[in-house]
This record gives sequence, structure tokens and C-alpha cells, in this order.
Amino acid sequence: MSAADHLLAHQGIRNTAGRLDVLRIFIDHGHALSQPDLERHLGDRYDRVTIYRTLSLFLEKGILHKVLDDAGAMKYALCPDTCHAHAIAHAHEHVHFKCVRCGNTTCIEEIEVPVVKLPSGYDLQERNLLLSGVCKDCNA
Ligand SMILES: [Zn+2]
Ligand SMILES: [Zn+2]
Ligand SMILES: [Zn+2]
Repeated sequence: MSAADHLLAHQGIRNTAGRLDVLRIFIDHGHALSQPDLERHLGDRYDRVTIYRTLSLFLEKGILHKVLDDAGAMKYALCPDTCHAHAIAHAHEHVHFKCVRCGNTTCIEEIEVPVVKLPSGYDLQERNLLLSGVCKDCNA
């Protein structure tokens, strides 16, 4: 069983070819990807609706989480293992890092988004923090 098969089986998701292909792309890349990135990798094997539904299912099941990129683009990244057990309310309060050289956005799971105290009258719903600079691959 591949890592992708295993993850789908663990989450009780039927392993269609499309789901496996999408998941493998995330596992191979190790950084956040947008739907257009996925479409580029998959060629014309699947239509947009299939890819979109697969992403929605993976978000719901704690396999992927959303990553807000600097240009307002929505990307997706693999969840840490801890999400798989708590798929219903998985929250992502780790920092994301966008590299100005390769353009990749990576999860920095070791660093939590710092707590910010809001003025009264404001209710917090989500915390996102995107840092940018040169990533460790480009720095190597
Ligand atoms: Zn998650
Ligand atoms: Zn880089
Ligand atoms: Zn992340």
C-alpha cells in the first residue's frame, strides 16, 4: 500500500484514481498547491469539477487545509498527522512561509501563529500568518 492509499483507507475514503492522483501530487511536492497547479500536473485526466470536489472532500476529512497565499490565491497543503484523528474540527494555527525565489509556500508546523489581543468589539474567527523570504531549499 502506498502512502496515498493508506491515508485514504485510514480516513474511510473510497480510493478512486482521481483521489489517489491528487493526494500523490501533494505528497510528492511537500508544499502548498493551488487548484491551477494541480490541473497543470494532472493534465486533462480529470475535469475541474472533479478536482474541486476532491479538494473539498480532503478539506473536510482533515487531509488538506487551506493556505492563503500573498496574492490572495487559495492554496492547499497536507495536514499534519494529528488532523487525521480530529478531522471534524481541525484548525491550522501554524505559520506559512512563502519563498520569494521559488514561489513555494510551505507549512511551518513547529511555529504557532502568535495570539493577538483584539480591541473590544472584534470577534476573532481565523488566524493566518504568512511570512515571506528565502526558503531552506533556495538557501542551500
Ligand atoms: Zn488539518
Ligand atoms: Zn525557495
Ligand atoms: Zn499549513
